[in-house]
Amino acid sequence: MVIAQQILFLVVLGIAGFFIRKRVLRISSNIKLGKEQKVSGPTLERIKNVLLVAFGQRKMFKRLIPAFFHFLIYAGFLIINLEVLEFVIDGIFGTHRVFAPYLGGFYNVLMNVFEFLAVAVLLACVVFLVRRNVLKIERFQSAEMTQWPRLDANLILTIEIVLMMAILTMNATDQLLQTRNDHYVSTGSLFFSSYLMPAFQGLNTETLVFIERFAWWFHIVGILGFTLYVTYSKHLHIFLAFVNTFVAKLEPKGHINNMPVVSNEVKSMLGLTTEAPTVQATPGRFGAKDVNDLTQHNLIAAYACTECGRCTSECPANLTGKKLSPRKIMMDTRDRMEEVGKSIAIGGPGLQDGKALLGDYITKEEINACTSCNACVEACPVLINPLEIILELRRYVSMEESGAPAQWNSMFQNIETSFAPWKFSPSDRFNWAKDEK
Ligand code: SF4
Ligand code: SF4
Repeated sequence: MVIAQQILFLVVLGIAGFFIRKRVLRISSNIKLGKEQKVSGPTLERIKNVLLVAFGQRKMFKRLIPAFFHFLIYAGFLIINLEVLEFVIDGIFGTHRVFAPYLGGFYNVLMNVFEFLAVAVLLACVVFLVRRNVLKIERFQSAEMTQWPRLDANLILTIEIVLMMAILTMNATDQLLQTRNDHYVSTGSLFFSSYLMPAFQGLNTETLVFIERFAWWFHIVGILGFTLYVTYSKHLHIFLAFVNTFVAKLEPKGHINNMPVVSNEVKSMLGLTTEAPTVQATPGRFGAKDVNDLTQHNLIAAYACTECGRCTSECPANLTGKKLSPRKIMMDTRDRMEEVGKSIAIGGPGLQDGKALLGDYITKEEINACTSCNACVEACPVLINPLEIILELRRYVSMEESGAPAQWNSMFQNIETSFAPWKFSPSDRFNWAKDEK
C-alpha cells in the first residue's frame, strides 16, 4: 500500500513538474519577444528594492487594511510552504512526518506556527472575498475586471481557503490517529486543529486514516495544481514581482527614455555634440506597435502585475471618466504576449497574425488620455511603470503614423521651431522682461 502511494506520488510529481516546466519555458520565451535591455545602475540599489518593496511589501502599506491581510497571505505562503518539503520527502520515501523525531519539541512549535498562519490565511481570504464580492470595492469593479480576471481572483482565494482547511483537517485526524496507530508519530498538541477533533472523534480508525490521507493528498496535489495554475494567472506576481523590482527603472519618475538616434541628431543640429549622427542600416521602429517593440522589462512587468488597480484608482484620466486605465494597459500587454506566444507554440503566424497591441488591444483614445503624471507609477506596489508602455505606443502613433491629434502636431512644430509649445519666435521669448528696469 505504502509502495503504491510512493509510486503514485512520483507519477503526480512528474506530471506536475512536466507541465510547470513547460509553462515556465513558455513565459520565458514570451518575455524574450521583447527587446533586450541591460540591467544598468547600482546593483545594491536594485537589491534594496527587492528587499524593501517585494520582500518587505513597503509600498503596500500605503493602504493599511488590504496591506495587513495581504501580508498574512504572503507570510503564510512563504512559511507554510516550508511544510511542503516534508510532504515531498514523505511522499517519495513513504515516511510520515519525517522531521518530527529529529526536531522533537521544536516540531510542535513549528506545526503550531503553520496552523496559526493557515487560520490567518483563511481569514484573510474570506476578508478579500467579501471586499470583492459583497462590499464591491470600486477598483475591482472596472470594465477590465469582469469575466476571467474576476473569476481568477475569486478562484485563487477559494482554492487557498480549501487548501488551508485541508491542513487543519489533516492535523485534526492525525492527532486522533496518534493514539491509535504507531505509524502516526507524536506531534504534541496542535492548537487550532484540536478544535476540529470532536468532529472526527467518533469515527473508526480506517475512516480516520482515509480522511487523513485524503487531506494529505488533497493538500499536496492542490499545491502542485496551484503552482501550475499560478503560471496562467495574475498570481504569477508572487514570483515575478521579485524580478520586476530588481529590473525596475532607477531613474527619477519624470525621466523619459530618449531614442539615441533622434537625440544624437537633434544634439548635432543644435551643435551640442561633435559626433556625427549615427546612420542605421535598417532604421528601427520609432516607439511600439506590438509587444516585440517593447523591452523585456516591460514584458516582465506585465506578468508581474497583480491587477490590484491601485494605479487606475490614482489615475487622473481614469478618475475624470476617460477610457484610460493603466491596469488595463498592463493586462492587455500580457494578454497580447500570451496570444503571440501561443500562436508561435502551435506553429501559427505569431506576431504576423494581423493583430497588434496598439489598435486590437489598446486604443489611441486610451493612450491619448494619459497626462504623463506618473501617479500610476508612484501607486504601484511592485514598481511597475505603465506610463513607459503608453509613451512608447504614443511615440509610434506620432512618429510612424503621424497620427497624433492636430493640436499636438502644431505643439510639436512650435517646439521644433520656437523651442516652446507656443508660436513665438525664439527672439520674442524675453519680450515680457523688456520694460523691467
Ligand atoms: S501617467 Fe498616465 S496612466 Fe499613469 S496615472 Fe498619469 S494619466 Fe494615468
Ligand atoms: S500596474 Fe501595479 S498598481 Fe497597477 S494593477 Fe498592476 S500591480 Fe497594481
